[in-house]
Amino acid sequence: MALLNAQQLYCVICGELILSAKDISQEHEPPKSRGGKVVGYAHKACNSRKGALTQDEYELWQKLEAIRTGRLKCLENSEKSR
Ligand SMILES: [Zn+2]
Repeated sequence: MALLNAQQLYCVICGELILSAKDISQEHEPPKSRGGKVVGYAHKACNSRKGALTQDEYELWQKLEAIRTGRLKCLENSEKSR
């Protein structure tokens, strides 16, 4: 892929710049396994972490992970302070 020379690609999952052509994967929404279509590019690591989840499911999963790892308190506090 020569895309990186022409334009900067940002990961649609984590929002960070994709620095290496080797790290590009196509992101499907809903997931490819559910017949989704390409919506953009993502880091291979982000894409495999997201797996067969939709964007909504992935966000829910991240919240569950936050609860499991004890980071939810931080999230709750930041939401209350709004
Ligand atoms: Zn990413």
